[in-house]
Amino acid sequence: MNLAVSGIVLKVSQSGESDRFCTILTGDHGVISAFAKGAKNMKNKNSTATAQFVYGSFELFRRRDIYMIDESQYEELYTGLREDIFRLSVAQYLCQLTMELVPEEQPAEDYLRLMRAALWYLSENTRPPLLVKAAAEMRMLSLAGYMPDLVMCRECGNYEHNTMFFMPDSGTIRCGSCGRPAGEYALTLGRGAMTALRHSIYAEQRKLFAFSLSGESLKQFSGAAEAFALSKIEKSLTTLEFLKTMM
Ligand SMILES: [Zn+2]
Repeated sequence: MNLAVSGIVLKVSQSGESDRFCTILTGDHGVISAFAKGAKNMKNKNSTATAQFVYGSFELFRRRDIYMIDESQYEELYTGLREDIFRLSVAQYLCQLTMELVPEEQPAEDYLRLMRAALWYLSENTRPPLLVKAAAEMRMLSLAGYMPDLVMCRECGNYEHNTMFFMPDSGTIRCGSCGRPAGEYALTLGRGAMTALRHSIYAEQRKLFAFSLSGESLKQFSGAAEAFALSKIEKSLTTLEFLKTMM
């Protein structure tokens, strides 16, 4: 069976002397694994498009229960990621998070659009990497069915307050008048961070990263998104642990 897909190479494992084993996020088939024979060799026709983070098109054929990459063509290399270890590490973490959340052999167009945008902003370095990380975490978890309810205070229905509390485990908020909940982990959010958190869930996809945030607000937004991600995936990811050694 032959298959033509477009996607992002999330992970590359070396296989033997010269082969690569790629995990690819595709729009039509979710996350798939494919073997690229000889691709570790720089002269191989598939060596460029089978590197990590590349967005490209791939012609696959199936041999027994494994996909083999026959032809490949890169469209985006996101070369800016190689300029900075921190941005590269955020990209690596988002790739691992994708592998955790995206189903195999099921359409995943929204995830692919999200990851293409996230890698582009990280590569171009036109947004703070922690902003891209947090917005992508919140959006990806929402796509995966973990959408929090950030519309209003869960106690009194208040929409706005200078201080809000976000409870990552339940994915709910409380206003400053109702106060921090007893016996439940809660993060404090000022107006800037609260607006960003809402934006990351409710904004149109094409506007997801179209905002700015810095200082304490960015720190709060980033902390809230990461706490939410950790509470939903319920395990530690090696790429996130590495990233945190640099924060
Ligand atoms: Zn309230």
